[in-house]
Amino acid sequence: MIELKDVNKWYGDFHVLKNVNLSVKEGEKLVISGPSGSGKSTLIRCINGLESHQTGDIIVDGTVLNNNVKHLESIRQKVGMVFQHFNLFPHLSVLENLMLGPVWVLKKSKKDAHDIAMKYLERVQIADQAHKFPGQLSGGQQQRVAIARSLCMSPKVMLFDEPTSALDPEMVKEVLEVMVELAEKERITMLCVTHEMGFAQKVADSVVFMDQGMIVEQTPPEEFFTKPRTERGQQFLAQIL
Ligand code: ATP
Ligand code: MG
Repeated sequence: MIELKDVNKWYGDFHVLKNVNLSVKEGEKLVISGPSGSGKSTLIRCINGLESHQTGDIIVDGTVLNNNVKHLESIRQKVGMVFQHFNLFPHLSVLENLMLGPVWVLKKSKKDAHDIAMKYLERVQIADQAHKFPGQLSGGQQQRVAIARSLCMSPKVMLFDEPTSALDPEMVKEVLEVMVELAEKERITMLCVTHEMGFAQKVADSVVFMDQGMIVEQTPPEEFFTKPRTERGQQFLAQIL
């Protein structure tokens, strides 16, 4: 579903992604972990073209990500993204936030978009909040709305960038539960930047460990959290445990 071949990216002189190779099969769930500044966000932002890479190839569901706008549009339609900060439109209700993409991008009727939105609000157990504005919800509720909003676009791939790290501890669980359910019930391919080990152990097929712009190892979670293959992986785990 996703192929990265020798991907390199620079910010000015700074070499942020170094010869990254990654292959993700349809339905696979990957957790991306690693120290701050190692390039995790940059990597997943490159996969939906929010950032551009300079050399190497990124191929999503058979489409090459390059300067071709049609390719970019096609990839964006297949790839949903959930950020640390929920990025909801504050002046629109929860329901309106969810209907926006289906109406304007997928050209659904208002009625269909409404039904899709309610279906996913129910899925994330927040249908009763449909007519509130984002600012009237807790952080955990807002993040669940953001997840539902992505799902309304029927993505083949979901990218998560530290979806729980801006939440108060008591709200982390409710968001992780929604993500676990999603991972277990849907065939969606998931890449999730997170340090939540319980989540990784429950759903990830493997943990991709990054350091200094490189993928240092890719290891099944039960192995990564007990005996990482690399010294850098061991040092990192010693810090977060
Ligand atoms: P964190 O865990 O803190 O979120 P990360 O692994 O997601 O870190 P990135 O945000 O991908 O790291 O950043 C990787 C490196 O690239 C960092 O050194 C960062 O300072 C640098 N960087 C990120 N965005 C830009 C930018 N727009 N311009 C210049 N440098 C950037
Ligand atoms: Mg980041």
